[in-house]
Amino acid sequence: MDEPTIVILGGGVGGVVAANELHAKLKEKARIVVVERNLQQSFQPSYLWVMTGERQPDSISRDIARLDRKGIEVVAGEIESIDTAGKSVTVSGKQIEYDYLIVALGAELDFESIPGLAKAHTYYTLDGAERLAGELKQFKGGQVTIVVAGAPYKCPAAPYEGAMLLEGYFHSRHVRHNMKLAMYTPEPLPMPVGGKTLGENIQEMLAHKGIDFHPEMQLTSAKGGELQFEDGSTAAADLLIVVPPHRAPAVVRDAGLTNDTGWISVDESTLATAHDGVYAIGDVTRIALPDGMALPKAGVFAHGQAEVVARNLAAQILGHAKRETYDGTGYCFLEAGGGVAGMAQGNFYGEPRRITMRSPSPVWHWGKVAYERYWLWKWY
Ligand SMILES: Cc1cc2nc3c(=O)[nH]c(=O)nc-3n(C[C@H](O)[C@H](O)[C@H](O)COP(=O)(O)OP(=O)(O)OC[C@H]3O[C@@H](n4cnc5c(N)ncnc54)[C@H](O)[C@@H]3O)c2cc1C
Repeated sequence: MDEPTIVILGGGVGGVVAANELHAKLKEKARIVVVERNLQQSFQPSYLWVMTGERQPDSISRDIARLDRKGIEVVAGEIESIDTAGKSVTVSGKQIEYDYLIVALGAELDFESIPGLAKAHTYYTLDGAERLAGELKQFKGGQVTIVVAGAPYKCPAAPYEGAMLLEGYFHSRHVRHNMKLAMYTPEPLPMPVGGKTLGENIQEMLAHKGIDFHPEMQLTSAKGGELQFEDGSTAAADLLIVVPPHRAPAVVRDAGLTNDTGWISVDESTLATAHDGVYAIGDVTRIALPDGMALPKAGVFAHGQAEVVARNLAAQILGHAKRETYDGTGYCFLEAGGGVAGMAQGNFYGEPRRITMRSPSPVWHWGKVAYERYWLWKWY
């Protein structure tokens, strides 16, 4: 029998881990193909440091085509369609057939769904973080407003990290006294999936830094420096920074892979979808937790899920009986400005779910820096 073909859609966090893990286990016993439109992959947690000028895009980016040298095929192109019945995908006009498919296409940022949003700044893309860094250098003072424009969004901590890093940045430039900082979010409190205590801790950190926090505020328009919210209230912004609404990539929606939540539904332990031989991992999925909340969209979960799917597929192909289950454990560093970070961790599948946070300290900040270096070295 010919070696099976495993096609991995997306070469971001989930895709690169799945490809490496499959290759490590299977070597020449399978054809492993990664399809990605953007060969220059960048480490998204570091976008915050691009914004503050502590990183340049080159230093946090790697060429995914380098996986070729390990024997992993990298196909550069736009995934145009996914045919789960015919077990094939179309990439820039060419068809690729698969025996197993891992969908790791992440989330798409939707700037068009709210009027005026496309003109706002964001550090949720590499280009956006770089543009914002340029703007910050010349920004002399005024109202700085950070708006989470829709949930769910990736990395529940990142809006709060962004606000606290900006506050520290303005301090270091001795212009903090010229700035007012405010945050708006549709969430009831910061990182609600982490529970009330964690949310209140972060709210206290924001208050301590003089950052006004406005929960349960859904943005409806952001035209000409004036923000409008669903409840009829308005706010001003001299510098507007947004976390745009997220949605599943168009190709996933068009393939009928999403359910009424707008995301791909998977088995929480195996990441299998309802389609034969098709798995989905990372931000493109929605995994419901026992209390009805969802597993956050974050690299740490995409990474763990990729390992489980890859190891189980390898075991199946090699005829081994052992299977792993994904357990929902995760952690996240929370940059707080001034060279310190907190660290939240816990088992998100736990009943009850207990997520705890270690107090901000330089240790966790350097932990995040070390993890960034490790990541960029390990996978490419
Ligand atoms: C500012 C910021 C800070 C963050 N901080 C953290 C953190 O501290 N900790 C943490 O765990 N997570 C963090 N994250 C989140 C983390 O980066 C994501 O959750 C993670 O990248 C998700 O992995 P993924 O594989 O699901 O998707 P991605 O890594 O986004 O990969 C998806 C890939 O699919 C490709 N793709 C999509 N559609 C197509 C198509 N049609 N054709 C071809 N290719 C396509 C994309 O180009 C992309 O490379 C942060 C994110 C941001 C923006």
